[in-house]
Amino acid sequence: MSSYQVPTAQAPARDTFGASLTGEGPAINYLCGDCNSKVSLKRGDPIRCKECGHRVLYKERTKR
Ligand SMILES: [Zn+2]
Repeated sequence: MSSYQVPTAQAPARDTFGASLTGEGPAINYLCGDCNSKVSLKRGDPIRCKECGHRVLYKERTKR
């Protein structure tokens, strides 16, 4: 998949408010600090592990 596509002219204008209102956005992967499971959160999601409910999540780092 390509990473990002510029919207065409036929798309409705929603670049100002749309993203923040709908809550859509790129999901960011985190690792739970307790059970170490992978948690993907979108913008506005509560920082909480979906497996054990732990609230300390670490941002997943890509290995080189
Ligand atoms: Zn957890």
